[in-house]
Amino acid sequence: MSGPLLIKSVTGCHCPRCRQGNLFRSSTYNLKRFSDMNEKCEVCDQTFMPEPSFYMGAMFVGYALQIGLFLATYFGIRIINPNANLEIYMGIMITLVILTLPIVYRVSRSIWIHLMIKYQQQIDSLTNQSTTNESSSI
Ligand SMILES: [Zn+2]
Repeated sequence: MSGPLLIKSVTGCHCPRCRQGNLFRSSTYNLKRFSDMNEKCEVCDQTFMPEPSFYMGAMFVGYALQIGLFLATYFGIRIINPNANLEIYMGIMITLVILTLPIVYRVSRSIWIHLMIKYQQQIDSLTNQSTTNESSSI
């Protein structure tokens, strides 16, 4: 068994090492706490802040995600209404930036940490063994 899929781990903001623990403490749209990260994984003990300013690179990932979102929105508006004026474009894009801010913030950090820390399937199989051992001993 290959374990959880990479895309599911990245978009679900799971630990890059075991793909099971959560990177963040609360839900995406808990607006006061959407950026609060766990210090380490509750499953495999991987630290989520390997070095100071680790997530500086995630800003560039977030920038790339926003550019992709802008382009998709621009072409979507062009297809739906080819005669749309600048106010419509600006209104939709500003609304979209505000609504997707928590998602882009979290997914960009998740992509960044998944680029830097490799998945270790042994941890996945070890945790599965320990849970099956625990359940069999009960
Ligand atoms: Zn983990």
